[in-house]
Order: sequence, then C-alpha cells, then structure tokens
Amino acid sequence: MIPIAKPLVGEAEAEAARRPITSGWLTQGPEVAAFEQEFAASVGAAHACAVSNCTTALHLALLAAGVGPGDEVVTVSHSFIATANAIRYGGGIPVFVDIDAVTGNMDPAQVDAAVTSKTRAILCVHQIGMPCDMPALLAVSARRGLPLIEDAACAIGSSIRIGDRWEAIGKPHGDIACFSFHPRKVITTGDGGMITTNNGEFDRKFRLWRQHGMSVPDSVRHGSPTVIFESYPVLGFNYRMTDVQAAIGREQLKRLPGIIESRRRLAARYHEALAAVPGVTPPHEPAWARSNWQSYGVRLADGIDQRRFMQAMLDRGVSTRRGIMNAHLEGAYAHEPWRAGGGLTASEAAQDEVVLLPLYAQMTTDEQDTVVEVLKTVVAELGGA
Ligand SMILES: *Cc1c(COP(=O)(O)O)cnc(C)c1O
Repeated sequence: MIPIAKPLVGEAEAEAARRPITSGWLTQGPEVAAFEQEFAASVGAAHACAVSNCTTALHLALLAAGVGPGDEVVTVSHSFIATANAIRYGGGIPVFVDIDAVTGNMDPAQVDAAVTSKTRAILCVHQIGMPCDMPALLAVSARRGLPLIEDAACAIGSSIRIGDRWEAIGKPHGDIACFSFHPRKVITTGDGGMITTNNGEFDRKFRLWRQHGMSVPDSVRHGSPTVIFESYPVLGFNYRMTDVQAAIGREQLKRLPGIIESRRRLAARYHEALAAVPGVTPPHEPAWARSNWQSYGVRLADGIDQRRFMQAMLDRGVSTRRGIMNAHLEGAYAHEPWRAGGGLTASEAAQDEVVLLPLYAQMTTDEQDTVVEVLKTVVAELGGA
C-alpha cells in the first residue's frame, strides 16, 4: 500500500527528544525559545511565537487583529475547517469568497466586493502549500485598511517572488502568518504551531495569551534570585508548545531544505508523467510561486467520478484523498453563522473534482511510477465508459 503521506522523522528526532526529558524542563522552556529563533531566521521574520497548534495560532492572530463578536473576516470556505472555526472562537463571522480555480487559492478580485463596514480582517490560506497572490491581497488590505493574516498551516518551505527576490512564506508578507506542525504537514512536532510577525506588540500579546495571560513566565521566575509574584492582567489560554515538541521541531527544521528539494523533484516528475494523460489535469504553479507541494492535487475530467476513482486506486494499493473540503457545506456551518461574499462554485467544484495523490519526501521513484501506472489504468477504465 502506498500511503498518501508519511512524516520524515527518525533517530535525530528521537535523540533530540531526550534532551528535555533528561534535563527535567519539559514545557515551554529553552528548547521552545531556540526553536522560535531558528524558525524566525529560516523565514526571515522578526518574531516567531510557538503555540500548541495552528488552530490556536489562528485564534490568537485574529484576537491580535481585533476581531471580536459580530466582526466579519473575509476568508475562503475552501480550506481545512480549522480556518473558519478559528474565526468563530472569538465570535467573528466568516465571509466566504470563492477561489481561483487554477491555483485553488483565494481570488483577490473577490475580496474587495466582500468587504463591508463590519469587516475587521482578511484571512487568506496558502492552500496545500501553494502561495497566495500576496501583492494583490496586500493591495486590497492596504486600500481597505484591514490587517491581512496568512493561514500558512501547510506552507513552511514555500516561497514567493517579490520583485526579483524569492522570499519565504512566513516572512510574513501580511501582518501575521500561522503554521502547523501536524504530521500531515511538511515538517512535524506531532502537534504544534508557530506564529510569525514583524509587529513586536502582537508578539508580546501572543506570549501573554498563550500562557494564561501570566505577566511573568515561569521560566523567568525559575531563574530569578528574588521572589516574583506574577499577575494575570488579561484573559489568557493554555496554548503552550512543550520542549519535547520544540526539540523535535529543531531537527525537522534542519531537514526542511532537503524535504523541500525532494518534494519539488517528485512534483516535477508527476507533472511530466501526467501531462499527457487524458482525464487528469496536473496542478499549476504560477511563475511567481514555489510550492512546497504539501499535497499534489490533480483535477479529474468531467465524467470521472471522484469516489469511484479513489476506490479503484485504493483497490490497487494506492491511497488518495479528495480535494480540500468546503466549510460551508459541513454540518457545523448549518448552525454557525457565516455569509457568502459572492458565488462559491469554483470552491465546490474543486472539492468534488480534485484528488490528492501520494507524495512524501522519502517516496521512491518506483513507488511514484506505480502511482502513475495505476492512475493510467484507472482513468482508462473509468473514463472510457
Ligand atoms: C492543518 C490545517 C490547519 C490546522 O492545523 P492544526 O495544527 O492541526 O491545528 C489550519 N488550516 C489549514 C489550511 C490546515 O491545512
């Protein structure tokens, strides 16, 4: 069976996890601080704040942007449901705009029309690692005076060309970017998240909120020669990352360039092998974008049923996943408030027509060739009817 994804972890991570265990300092301590510095340096951000996962990262980012009960946030429905859920945690109302059918990302042309006097922020998603058109989104955010938050859950290692320079997603180009280290993403700490910003005031708030709103972190009290009483000036949360996770993350960050190189090499092989296969359209990477190919999605032609295609692949030993979901079609959003900022036809079509193929850094060319051969067989079988 060829799986859809496989984290690249090994002895280096196991060894690193020993450090906090043997040191006796297990949560949000020196390993978290070091991971934050190394992460910030790797994306070129002034600040990086580690948290428990990307969903909590998004919650804090939206709080920092001032999104409160009844405020609208322009975003996409076509994303993992955590994007919309994070808006609801603070009482915000998601306003869903459609995607560009080619890139699968928020269509900047739709955003402006969706903004009202209630809009408090724009939340874009670098879906499955493909960078959004940031210059276009930044132009809308500047014109409307709205903060731009990037859901970069899947986008560590992706980059975008600004002028004549390639810049990492997470620099950030908007006001705040949020990353995930779930095992389905490109690097992992089991669970975990990171928030990058160049705004020192936002970073200070993230650090306060992630640890119960506590004025003096325990790491500072621990090292102090004088007695310190902490205070709790604001409502905080427990969104800490542990030092065990951070120690693993530091090793993952060392592997990142190699992981990106092999994912991009494999994606290029898929492009080449699938270009002339009738019935499937490979994904498109704009000239100004370099995806980390967190996922590789092909679009099935009209007449090829997604579920039957996926089942036939699975029957032959190849695991796939359907295209990215749409939050507005799920039961949770039959109850939760939201508004459509225009039609959502491209979003709905992408969910039903795209299929994600296996792709992981350690995938062999033999495994990849098997996927391609099986796909050709299945397409011929289903498409020929
Ligand atoms: C995975 C994902 C999230 C959630 O990340 P967690 O770390 O699991 O909370 C949010 N947004 C997008 C686009 C994702 O793919």
